[in-house]
Order: sequence, then structure tokens, then C-alpha cells
Amino acid sequence: MTSGRENLLSILDAPAPPSTPIALRSLFGLSNEQLTDLLKQFSVPAYRTKQLTEALYRGWENDLSAVSTLPKDLREKLLEAEYSIGRPTIAETFRSVDGTERYLIATGDGQTVETVWMPEGDDGEEGDGSEAGVEELAGHHDATICVSSQIGCAVNCQFCLTAKLGIIRNLSAGEIAGQVVAVLDRHKVKIGRDRINLVFMGMGEPFLNYDAFMDAVRLLVSEVGIAESRMTVSTSGIVPGIEKFALEKVRPKLAISLNASNNTVREQVMPITRKWDIGDLIEAVRQVPLRPRERVTFEYVLLGGVNDQLEHAGEVVKLLRRANFPAKVNLIAWNPGPSIPYTMPDPDDVARFQQHLIERGIPAFIRRPRGRDIYAACGQLKRTVEQ
Ligand code: SAH
Ligand code: SF4
Repeated sequence: MTSGRENLLSILDAPAPPSTPIALRSLFGLSNEQLTDLLKQFSVPAYRTKQLTEALYRGWENDLSAVSTLPKDLREKLLEAEYSIGRPTIAETFRSVDGTERYLIATGDGQTVETVWMPEGDDGEEGDGSEAGVEELAGHHDATICVSSQIGCAVNCQFCLTAKLGIIRNLSAGEIAGQVVAVLDRHKVKIGRDRINLVFMGMGEPFLNYDAFMDAVRLLVSEVGIAESRMTVSTSGIVPGIEKFALEKVRPKLAISLNASNNTVREQVMPITRKWDIGDLIEAVRQVPLRPRERVTFEYVLLGGVNDQLEHAGEVVKLLRRANFPAKVNLIAWNPGPSIPYTMPDPDDVARFQQHLIERGIPAFIRRPRGRDIYAACGQLKRTVEQ
């Protein structure tokens, strides 16, 4: 007999990305080591790897035949062997009145994923302050890119629009990092001058596509040049993923989608709680060695009348006091979606909830919804255009 827990686990297995057909061998997404191995076949000096890596991840070249740092005959040989840069491209852009942009990014196999650009962040995630002074320079001051890790999602949170898609497939490392580079390129961002934050909070559950997600993080840190302290990954609470994450040397900051103050409510809104409950989550998070001044973010989507009352705020306080590690809470007023049976919280309840936490010493921020009019806000991402 299979238990509910086992059923949940099997549902969570996502199909892998399609193995790249020979006609579309993508270079974008390969690590420095993988590119070194590949270029060995073409018997060129080792420094050619560095030039190719630079062209892909620093120069954001999108056309192999135009990479002028590589000798023409090497470019031709690569093209003959059916290699291309193969970076995902922006297929469609939706622009919100608040400047937020939502993109449909084409992955080459006819699928699209969603990526969001928020010109001034959303108040929820702040950096570590290490780049104070950057504001004086020209450019993008504090933009945030929200990145997807899967097409659809298997986790089935009851309040989330992406859940309605089910899981379609995992994204590859190149497809994850490629969303970022496509958007950086569009906005002519200058790495080193502009302050860019990444949040892995788009479609999908990053910790159910762990290896590709972490490969993308390593590429973005070591090759593209975005500091890991400017990245945050959000998980619905996949305990084995959090345990692996705890062992990583290079890693984003961690956010946990708590979304309820006790297991009874959490089981209703996030059925995955039946597999790993709040206690399991807290114990897994405890294993993550925090850097100086780092806090774990707990995201809390406020659902009208369900989890937004003072009794719930009180439970969150108790829970985080007991956990006893540096934490903060990001409160998100639920963003409505078609045929999702919840209501938005009363703004007074949101304010009271935040005040209750702050007065008891728990830092709590209210995330501004960005791009609601173009369905770019949290939990509103769904592949199709016609919502
Ligand atoms: N799958 C990951 C990351 C993507 S979801 C996770 O769940 O953590 C990013 C955040 O959006 C999560 O905290 C999630 O709880 C929240 N969210 C989902 N649907 C929402 C909605 N309709 N309104 C507001 N926030 C929502
Ligand atoms: Fe998946 Fe996150 Fe949506 Fe839950 S909230 S269904 S984990 S994308």
C-alpha cells in the first residue's frame, strides 16, 4: 500500500529538459570546465576557452559567427559541428504602469518561461549594504530580476497560479542563467556599475531542480559576475534540498515560503506540509551556516481570513523565537488569480500583522506587489498570455 507521503514524493519528480538535439547544441550554460573539454576536440590552445567564456558570459554575444575574439576557422568548425550559442531569447514583453516588465522567454523547444524585471526591487529583499555609494553612479540603481527554475510546478500550493499548470519540465542551467543574461542585455546593465539583485522566485520550485539551479548560480557568480550576496532563492520547503544547500560554499540567501503559522493551516494551503511539516523545515534551516549579518527570510502570503489574524501573527512570533536563528518576515498580500478560491487580506489586517511582529522584535516587511496589471506579481506567473 502506498502512503500519502509516497504519493506526494512521486508527483514531485519532474521531467528533465529535452536533451539538446544535434542541430541545437547550446554553448550557453556550459561551465568553464565543460567548455575546456569541448574545445579539446578542436585542438586549439587553452586560452581559447577563456575567450569563449568571456564572449558568452561577459560580452553576452548571441551569434557564434560574430564572436570576433575567436579565429574564424574555429567559429566555422564549431558551426559545422552544429554548435550555437543557444541562449534563451525574449519572445514577448509586457510592461506595467509601475515600470515592471514581464517577459516570455523562449527556450528553443517551443516552450516559454516567465522572467520579471523590477526596476527598483519590491522592498522585500535588501542587499547587505556592502555596495553603499553605488547610487551616485549612473545606471540601474537597485533592479531585481525574478527568475524561473521550472516550467510549471509540481508543488500544488492552493493559492498559486503557477500550480495550475502542473509540472511541465525542469529548466537546464543554461535556461536558468540565460533568463538573467537576456534581461541584463535588454537593459544594457553594466556589471560592476549597476546594482542588480536576483530572486529565484519565478515559476517552479528551485529545490526540485537542484543541480541545474545550483549550476546556474555558479555560472552567474563566477562567469557573469553577480555576487551571491545579491541573490535569494525561495523554496516551499523541500527538506532534502535545504540540507544539500546547507553544504554549499557559494550560495544565495535563503527564503522559506512559510505561509501559515501552524501545520493545520499550512496543510490546507500547502499540501506539501504533509510530507515535511513546519518543525522539519525549521530543523533543516538550522543546518544552514549563516554569514555575518545574514538572516533567513520567511515569506508569508496573507490570505484574507485564513492566516492573517493576530492569533496567527502570535504563532509566527512563537515559532521564530523558538527557532532562535536570525530571521525576518516578508509579508505578501495575496495576489488574486482566476479561479483561485481565496480573497485578498484587509489592508488593516496586513498592517496589524506587521506591527505585531515588529513590536516583538521580529523584522517584518510588506512586499509591494509589482506589475499586478500584467500578472507579473508573485504567484501570478503562468505561461500563457491570455489570462
Ligand atoms: N516555488 C518557490 C518560489 C516561487 S513562488 C516557493 O514557493 O517558494 C515565490 C513566492 O510567491 C512564494 O513565497 C509564494 O508563496 C508566493 N506566492 C505564490 N502565489 C502567490 C500569490 N497568488 N500571491 C502572492 N504570493 C504568492
Ligand atoms: Fe510552486 Fe512556489 Fe507556486 Fe508553491 S508557491 S506552487 S512551490 S511556484
